[in-house]
Amino acid sequence: MEKMLARRFEGKVAIVTASTQGIGLGIAERLALEGASVVISSRKQKNVDEAVEKLRAKGIQQVMGLVCHVSDAEQRKNLINKTIEKYGKIDVVVSNAAVNPANIPLLQTQESILDKLWETNVKAAILLLKDAGPHLQKGSSVIFISSLGGYQPQPSMAMYGVTKTALLGLTKALAAEMAPDVRVNCVAPGFVPTRFAAYITANEAAKKSFEKMTLLNRLGTTEEVAAATAFLASDDASYITGETLIVAGGTPSRL
Ligand code: NAP
Repeated sequence: MEKMLARRFEGKVAIVTASTQGIGLGIAERLALEGASVVISSRKQKNVDEAVEKLRAKGIQQVMGLVCHVSDAEQRKNLINKTIEKYGKIDVVVSNAAVNPANIPLLQTQESILDKLWETNVKAAILLLKDAGPHLQKGSSVIFISSLGGYQPQPSMAMYGVTKTALLGLTKALAAEMAPDVRVNCVAPGFVPTRFAAYITANEAAKKSFEKMTLLNRLGTTEEVAAATAFLASDDASYITGETLIVAGGTPSRL
């Protein structure tokens, strides 16, 4: 039987970055199924077109797809401007884009790669909100997608982890700066089988070892991350700001 969802985003407009597959697409779908008009985007037009088609095939009509590499200033501005032209406002921004171009120890990582990680995973999120800020409604909500690795950066992807730690601080800083009109929260997923995490799921032994780290003995799903994101973005979380919700099946993280 189809799960009945609430309609918490009826009449609302949501932008989700990096949303043509994986967690971002899952979040866009969830917000749309709860009534939002969603603006999805990623770097490649083909992926944008395919994702729009996928959502339409699920009966979601209120969706606009745009190309937006989050590190490209023009494309970020275009994302905001086209959203305003079409829908006239923004109620939810989910900043989901991140890259991890190299699995090497921090002190062996080239400066250009350190820059790329910082620029895509942290700086672009700030710059996007600079553009979106003037259009955010009273009662709007911003969500950053961090990672469990933000609490304990993994040796093999340490700088990626450090950028995710930065998002925890950014959540606190922007929650204070954007209050009281806009709430700013963060979701920190554990392992979710997506293209990004393919290096784990492709190897059965690695997958089992990550499953064992959880209390629930399994990896997460994009739907579960989307459900937590929708909660924080909705009025059900109206007295929550500056917080990070860990969605990791009980994997040890913090108190
Ligand atoms: P994914 O399935 O690989 O999807 C990545 C999406 O991002 C694609 O739609 C891709 O489309 C787009 N993208 C990549 N670089 C971009 C850029 N510079 N600008 C705009 N779009 C870009 O990844 P995912 O696992 O869903 O990851 C999403 C977020 O969750 C990331 O922030 C990641 O750090 C976080 N996370 C994931 C896991 C996990 O286990 N999967 C765990 C913790 C946190 P194009 O190729 O068309 O650009």
